[in-house]
Amino acid sequence: MDSPFLDTKIIDCHIHYPHPDLSSNLIKILDRNRITSCNIVCTPHYNRLSLVPDALQLKANFPERVYVFGGLDISALFMQPETCGQYFAEYAEKLAEMGCDGIKMIEGKPDMRRNLPTPDFDSRSYEPYWAKIEEMGFPLVFHVNDPEEFWDKQRIPDWALKQGWFYGDGSFINNEAQYSQVINVLTRFPKLKIIFAHFFFLSSQLERLAGYLDRFPNMHVDLTPGIEMYHNFTQDSQKSRDFFIKYQDRILYGTDIGAKALLSDPSGGLDVLESGMRISLVRNFLEKDGGFRFEEGQGFLFGKFEGDFQSINLPINVLEKIYSKNFEKLTGLSPKPLNKSAILAELERLSIIIPAMGAAQPGMAVDTSVVEKVKSYFLSH
Ligand SMILES: [Zn+2]
Repeated sequence: MDSPFLDTKIIDCHIHYPHPDLSSNLIKILDRNRITSCNIVCTPHYNRLSLVPDALQLKANFPERVYVFGGLDISALFMQPETCGQYFAEYAEKLAEMGCDGIKMIEGKPDMRRNLPTPDFDSRSYEPYWAKIEEMGFPLVFHVNDPEEFWDKQRIPDWALKQGWFYGDGSFINNEAQYSQVINVLTRFPKLKIIFAHFFFLSSQLERLAGYLDRFPNMHVDLTPGIEMYHNFTQDSQKSRDFFIKYQDRILYGTDIGAKALLSDPSGGLDVLESGMRISLVRNFLEKDGGFRFEEGQGFLFGKFEGDFQSINLPINVLEKIYSKNFEKLTGLSPKPLNKSAILAELERLSIIIPAMGAAQPGMAVDTSVVEKVKSYFLSH
């Protein structure tokens, strides 16, 4: 199929995959848009604890095309928060052993953080974990904070308010408090390979972000919208372009395909049009020259756009880094092979611990159906 964009290797480092039934649709979206490979970032799940089984099954079916960044086992935060770091250190090794290519943490998203009894990231509780993944060189996609306007009643967009993402009522962590925790972590563990999702929500403060990138050479950011990022980049597109050229080794392509299914209802499937729009937003911005716009109402979590976006027309060698090489530098040139016996052991453990979590938390509707399905898949493949 014809694509209006550069024909080159594309790895999307930030895709959600909230149910194993979404496989054929996801592959269709990748094929249609000539996306070479994808990285599935696994978030915790309220009723199923983990979306890692879903992602591993997808990887088993498409071993050359699918990377997996597994989520941590958040049951530790409920059962042993003060020693969670020791547990997470061991869990990181378990993820690697199963064949995950890295870790995804969404624990720094303020509403998620409020629901999880997580210690501060720079506390002693977490220390063994940071030390371990730094030593392993295991990459992490880390969602920390959200757009700064979500703390401000006057500036938060309606669509975000509807999602329950107004954080200014005093019950959520403050974004600057969280930035300082994370920067403390990097100061102590400067070799951590971290990709901060959504440009670390600093797209309107490029000088500040540049300061962090200069201090921490293994720190990266991804381009996953946040529509506000593209509004911010547009404010001064020459300055944005200069930033992208200067930090061309530190920026990764991502879209959040699947976020809609994750946040609404996975049974509705992956939205092919909406996914295509995410791709076209990011790629138009990077590759083209001049302004572009979208019709209102096409996007999910995109709200209403005022005016045009400005593209920054990057050179091909820079685009190649952003589209694939920077990711491959962090993970290796192909996805890690899966280890079936390690996966089966973890699925077995999940099928026991999910009901146990349900018993410990009245009102939690536990769902072991997917774990059981994925287990029988791996037993017969
Ligand atoms: Zn995401």
